[in-house]
Amino acid sequence: MPTRADFDRYLVPTYAPADFVPVLGAGSRLWDQNDREYIDFAGGVAVNALGHCHPALVAALEEQATKLWHVSNWFVNEPALALARQLVNATFAERIFFCNSGAEANEAALKLARRVAHDRFGAQKYKILSAVNSFHGRTLFTVSVGGQSKYSDGFGPKPEGIAHFEYNNLASLEALMDDDVACVMLELIQGEGGVLPASKEFLQGARALCDKHNALLVLDEVQTGVGRTGTLFAHEQFGVTPDILSSAKSLGGGFPIGAILTTADIAKHFSPGVHGTTYGGNPLACAVAGALLDVVNSPEVLDGVKTKGQYFRDRLALINAEFPVFSEVRGMGLLLGNVLAPQYAGRAFELLGLCSKHGLMVLIAGPDVVRFAPSLVITEADIDEGLSRFVAALKDFIAA
Ligand SMILES: *Cc1c(COP(=O)(O)O)cnc(C)c1O
Repeated sequence: MPTRADFDRYLVPTYAPADFVPVLGAGSRLWDQNDREYIDFAGGVAVNALGHCHPALVAALEEQATKLWHVSNWFVNEPALALARQLVNATFAERIFFCNSGAEANEAALKLARRVAHDRFGAQKYKILSAVNSFHGRTLFTVSVGGQSKYSDGFGPKPEGIAHFEYNNLASLEALMDDDVACVMLELIQGEGGVLPASKEFLQGARALCDKHNALLVLDEVQTGVGRTGTLFAHEQFGVTPDILSSAKSLGGGFPIGAILTTADIAKHFSPGVHGTTYGGNPLACAVAGALLDVVNSPEVLDGVKTKGQYFRDRLALINAEFPVFSEVRGMGLLLGNVLAPQYAGRAFELLGLCSKHGLMVLIAGPDVVRFAPSLVITEADIDEGLSRFVAALKDFIAA
């Protein structure tokens, strides 16, 4: 039987995984090699939108697995066609490009935005603006556009023409804006950056500045999309429509897939041969994502996200009244950031470890925020059980 020790023996040490190995999942519960049970408030990292092994996703995967796995992009396949139609029918978009991850979706979005600017206005229009502390993936282009230099330094020359403004500060964005800007890339909630939501005024101001300077607004909904905030995509709650939207994470519910959504007018700049990926539109991934969208894009599930998010907040307020560890709970829907009070600053990872010890999986978002991104269909019983384990962890944390 493989063990955790094999990680150190055989894998590139890009991660420092927990000392237990999950082997089985059902809904919002997981079990490790020693049959220890965990409640899952992490959902992968906001990936397992329908929990683990949801019957609708298992059925879609099993059915497609016996039919067709891959045919290359010299052919289209039915699951990709069906999923593209579903996404177009459900959103602002008219055209979809499929890939395999969030970084790839953002890479495609950035290349597309530059290509559109180049074709429409000339080679000088290539600037990309994004927010300090943003996260857009781990390719060299996306770490460079992302606003955290710890992810982009030390890899040689970065792509040029990228500048960073302060998130939620319209004057800071405006100061960088000019007619050579190809696009502005933004998260609706800075997920990795601490579960920090954009303000409506900021987002609407960014949209207006993009329009004024013929720049495209690219919204990175890799973490906020596919129901996570209580609407299919978070931008619907801000009264702002992007030119290009990137999606991944929850879209596949645990099966790798990414996508960009855009208009026909923009999409036409990705003409045959301009961009591509071997696995994009993979039949297995698209079959799973199609089944997931059928479930998630329903009033029951989307309203449920809002109700469950509020339930979390109400319970957390009570817990915090007894064990005042957090200064604030922020986020939207089922993407929640518990911000450590100043006297506990920097200790989020320690609290995560105590949660594991008590049979609860959580995430962090930087050193000061404990993040929850559970299944969108988590039951109230699992929320209650998870929160009582959270309280046990908090007691240890305070005593530590
Ligand atoms: C996770 C994430 C990404 C990167 O997605 P990968 O699938 O890891 O490449 C990009 N943007 C945001 C906002 C994310 O949360």
